[in-house]
Amino acid sequence: MININDKQIIKKAIETINKLSQKVDDVKIMHVCGSHEHTICKYGIREVLPENITVIPGPGCPVCVTTQKEIDTAIYLAENNYTITTLGDMYRVPGSEKSLMEAQSEGCDVRIVYSISDAVKIAKEDNKVVFVAIGFETTAPTTGAELISLKNKNKDINFYILNCHRQTPPVMEFLLNEGNVNLDGFICPGHVSTITGLKPYYEPCKKYNAPMVVAGFEPIDVLMAIIMILKQIINREAKVENEYKRAVREEGNVIAQKIMNEVFEPIDIPWRGFPVIKNGGLGLKEKYKKFDILEVEEVPPIKEKIPKGCICDKILRGEKFPTDCPLFGTVCTPLNPVGSCMVSDEGTCRIFYKYRKLV
Ligand code: SF4
Repeated sequence: MININDKQIIKKAIETINKLSQKVDDVKIMHVCGSHEHTICKYGIREVLPENITVIPGPGCPVCVTTQKEIDTAIYLAENNYTITTLGDMYRVPGSEKSLMEAQSEGCDVRIVYSISDAVKIAKEDNKVVFVAIGFETTAPTTGAELISLKNKNKDINFYILNCHRQTPPVMEFLLNEGNVNLDGFICPGHVSTITGLKPYYEPCKKYNAPMVVAGFEPIDVLMAIIMILKQIINREAKVENEYKRAVREEGNVIAQKIMNEVFEPIDIPWRGFPVIKNGGLGLKEKYKKFDILEVEEVPPIKEKIPKGCICDKILRGEKFPTDCPLFGTVCTPLNPVGSCMVSDEGTCRIFYKYRKLV
């Protein structure tokens, strides 16, 4: 077995990228995973790439792509006597006027939980608990499993979700079709692909002639994915390849997919920084709608106020890097985040700040 941290192999991979880069013009490769951005920044991968090869972070952070309207809705519910339960990352994301953390400091019942199961436990003690359910295909099965369990128990419980789940391949398709950056290929998200398998990538790969390579999270994984994409471009091919075979199977996690198919169906929803993405969301199916807080509580229309100067939208679409933002590292820091991309550990601005990367 190859030692994925072998320095000689990494050196060889960088040399190979340099050789291949001489056979192509400017190449722009996007990834859609905060963990890939961590690897890229932590190990300085951008710094060793030839000038004509750019790896661009895309919308790979679930917290970052949750819209301000969804956050404002959670805050509205907190201010209207619901107990809001949320994962830690969502707690500090600024809404139009305040964050959930600030709502809590004003007396609202906002609690950080580690999982939806913790939120259900609170619902057994208290009235009217809402869990802010965020995340891609990696977390949706956990939400689904909990809702199946609650439905099967068939007991009345005042537990709801604010459903903010999203699925990744449709946003990749949007970026290929309607994005403002001419992308030459995708490094597909390793975690998401453990659930979905390779199937969701086949159609956009073929339709937009875009090489797609599923990659793991070690530096050699990212470098190998770049090599595989460059080889496809040089050979005028566009296919889906799996660099992360040690974790991702062609068919994905069939049990998790079954849970998702039982509970969710694709819906068109907006992502932060994007218009409505066709099939970009995971709506609850009819038989699970009783857990959807928006089915039981009417929330007044919310008008979003995006903070002045914040370019999270452009960063999420791969049009800008965090260092292009005039607020980066000065007005906007992890302690005092202005936009969602500076809050979550998976946010591009937060990751750039952590590793102080200049592009
Ligand atoms: Fe928004 Fe802050 Fe990122 Fe600028 S640095 S884009 S203000 S999150």
